[in-house]
Amino acid sequence: MSMRGTRWSASTFVWNSIIQKKNRIFLWLMFWDRLNTNANRTKKHWTTDPFCVKCPAVASITHIILHCSLVDHVWNKLDIKQMALWSDDVFYFVGRIIPHFSHQRQATWPICFAACAQELWSAQNQRIFENSNTTVS
Ligand SMILES: [Zn+2]
Repeated sequence: MSMRGTRWSASTFVWNSIIQKKNRIFLWLMFWDRLNTNANRTKKHWTTDPFCVKCPAVASITHIILHCSLVDHVWNKLDIKQMALWSDDVFYFVGRIIPHFSHQRQATWPICFAACAQELWSAQNQRIFENSNTTVS
């Protein structure tokens, strides 16, 4: 089963047994843009501020995971910062990056991406709701 007509399988990726259950549910909601980002909270009239707490950009999941100034160092450490910056969508970022990895890295990429994405999401929420300056390194 694929998602949005692309060749890679989000279902296989997300429901991979090597990923912790809490990360699987997070990833599924993220790929379907069902997380309560400021952009989505604005659409639901829960807030009037759709912007990122750090950048002058709408806080969509793509911004939070790929483009925010606070996440550059995470993707830079994995040597995939440029691919993150050039990607318009988290789903396509994940699918596009898989063929560029070695077989060993392809096997661990779901765990790595899930952990990074969930931590970036948690840090963003702490900044919004707890007025914290939490970073992910
Ligand atoms: Zn930002």
